[in-house]
Amino acid sequence: MKVISKTSDSEIASVFIAEDENRRLLEFVESTQPPYTINQKWVLIISTLFGCPVNCKFCDAGGSFNGIVSYDQLKFQIDYLINRRFPDGYIDTDKFKIQFARMGEPAFNPNVLSILEDFPSLYNYRYFLPSLSSIAPASTGGFFDKLLEIKHKLYSDTFQLQFSIHSTDIEQRDQLIPVKKWSFEQIGKYSQEFYQHGGKKITLNFAVSQQNIIEPEKIVEYFDPAIFLIKLTPLNPTFRASANGMFNVIKTDGHNFEISDRFKSCGYDVIISIGELEENKIGSNCGQYISKHQGCEAKTDDSYLYPLISV
Ligand code: SF4
Repeated sequence: MKVISKTSDSEIASVFIAEDENRRLLEFVESTQPPYTINQKWVLIISTLFGCPVNCKFCDAGGSFNGIVSYDQLKFQIDYLINRRFPDGYIDTDKFKIQFARMGEPAFNPNVLSILEDFPSLYNYRYFLPSLSSIAPASTGGFFDKLLEIKHKLYSDTFQLQFSIHSTDIEQRDQLIPVKKWSFEQIGKYSQEFYQHGGKKITLNFAVSQQNIIEPEKIVEYFDPAIFLIKLTPLNPTFRASANGMFNVIKTDGHNFEISDRFKSCGYDVIISIGELEENKIGSNCGQYISKHQGCEAKTDDSYLYPLISV
């Protein structure tokens, strides 16, 4: 595997594109998030599948699936970024976070578990925060059982688990995420076991467009506010979202958002995760996937605007 290109320089984020011996492409991201310096916070977002079989209605990474990313290929993405920033191997940052969340549903790849299990013996760091985001596909009970074991053994206070449900309406959830999934009840039950008092709450994520049905009162019975927090993220401007007539409705100042108040009334902590709009232009945000649109005629006004440079 070798890195063939990256987005042009930015102080906020860079997307790297690597190619394997079978000419499959993999994207991974380094996010530096000013005003934090790299010694304060450093976030890597890595891919777990080549493509994604889930095909969410708003995600440019879905649609085709060409296999799972091997253990070595997962490690390659991490090592490449560490070598660029911390060539002596010591990851000298207060908060080193890896999100298993670029391309691919991570629960389809058991190598993710092996990397998480080996991580403390592979790398030298001050503080590590693993973060895994899943749509909770059906038939992944084995993955999540093992994840529970690893979390309790190695990351009891630090693991960030996110379930992306996007809608409180079961039918709409199935349209947005068109594969068989765990029910709300299953997610709630699993999370009861996963959560550890004093550790991080489990995140329920909604990427909010004008189409999403979000009725906080309907899900409280499944998702206990004592162990779940709500994350509302703007729907990122992807080609698929645009083709499906979906657009973001979260205001960039993050205020006066009625859904947030309703969640709070139900007892939830709420994060409105706006991030940097520049990241849309770079193409480094969740659901974006640069490679798919190289050489494609379609353009958007507010995303994928940073040219790629050869590495
Ligand atoms: S949002 Fe995640 S699960 Fe859905 S298609 Fe994209 S990568 Fe796959």
